Amino acid sequence: MDLTRAAAADLDAADPLAAFRDRFVIADDALLYLDGNSLGRLPRDTPAALARVVEEEWGRGLVGSWSSWIGRATEVGDVLAAGVLGARPGEVLIGDSTSVDLYKLLVAGADARPGRDVLVCCADDFPTDRYLVAGVAAARGMSVRQVAADIDEGLDLDVLAAALDERVAVVVLSAVAYRSGALPDLAAVTRLVHDAGALVLWDLSHAAGAVPLELTAIGADLAVGCTYKYLNGGPGAPAFLYVRRELQEQLRQPIWGWFGQRDQFAMGQAYDPAPGIERFAVGTPPVPGMAAVEVGARLVAEAGVDRLAAKGRALTDLVVALADGWLAPHGVALASPRDAARRGSHVSLAHPQAWQVTQALLDRGVVPDFRTPDRVRLGPAPLYSRFVDVWEAMDRFRDVLAEGAHERYPAERARVT
Ligand SMILES: *Cc1c(COP(=O)(O)O)cnc(C)c1O
Repeated sequence: MDLTRAAAADLDAADPLAAFRDRFVIADDALLYLDGNSLGRLPRDTPAALARVVEEEWGRGLVGSWSSWIGRATEVGDVLAAGVLGARPGEVLIGDSTSVDLYKLLVAGADARPGRDVLVCCADDFPTDRYLVAGVAAARGMSVRQVAADIDEGLDLDVLAAALDERVAVVVLSAVAYRSGALPDLAAVTRLVHDAGALVLWDLSHAAGAVPLELTAIGADLAVGCTYKYLNGGPGAPAFLYVRRELQEQLRQPIWGWFGQRDQFAMGQAYDPAPGIERFAVGTPPVPGMAAVEVGARLVAEAGVDRLAAKGRALTDLVVALADGWLAPHGVALASPRDAARRGSHVSLAHPQAWQVTQALLDRGVVPDFRTPDRVRLGPAPLYSRFVDVWEAMDRFRDVLAEGAHERYPAERARVT
């Protein structure tokens, strides 16, 4: 690959998604923001969408606005289903956090497989996923099987297969690994889990808006994901959950709130869950947050997940090529799958002083993030990142290492990495 800046500029000139950058607030054009996989940028339309909800719907409409707010969690869910997740209408609901949605679906799934006493998760998965599996297992007297995964290459299907048998109720897995970006064959994993008679619960937090998802086509049972990463819903934006249509009637979630109730305003005596996806709701939904999610979801849908994924592969291929060419001589190693088809839109680079390198990059206008044990994670979100941004960031990365600039930073980690 041509490693010149001119070659990167050529890629930008040929980029069919280039115009989408203008749809985002770029407060500082010189800042090289490569952390869109942690917190996506602010879409230009979001402040006005929030202002409309706050000033008009709340300020003017007051309680009467509930007639339109009441259906919004499913309406925005349908936008995500069609434009991002490859799911059908009525299969996706917005609300709560990813962690809480995981809890709800994990318990619902375990209840749907009575007699099975094992939950499976990946030993290298994002912490909240592992903690929730451990907590639900402890509360129910189930046991946990943690499947080992290579922290750079991700899950091996043979290793997963060896952990599956007739005792397994639910398997929780991330579609894109948070650290390495590794992307397993989602359809093949789903088939394996189904062959064992278990349900699969996908965490799509690092996948939604970054890789093509075909939840209906692959027969996915359950899924959750956050909306503030590649979906650009903003900090603390409500998460989404997906339940395959054919399973909805069989499943009951554990938090019996009135928003999950059939004919909610009848204020009936006993909990009787709503017939469709709304049975997975709990309480009053975060209306302003959903407005921001809708803007982000529509942007991703408009750009098209296939085109976003193709650009994500090209951006991360450039990171890999520059890391090989410039950083490897300074002791940096690729810590993600080398084959772009096997990863999402972020890559990690290993360096023994990754934390200090991250601090040095931040001081030079590059925003990556640090991930344990010794990774600099780079997430050039395809909706608004340019190839020249990647080139500039890697050029500064090379300077930091060549000058030893990172040596001047303390090795002790901050509270937020
Ligand atoms: C970001 C992320 C989460 C976030 O969970 P919250 O409840 O929104 O804090 C969960 N799981 C994975 C895999 C993630 O990447």
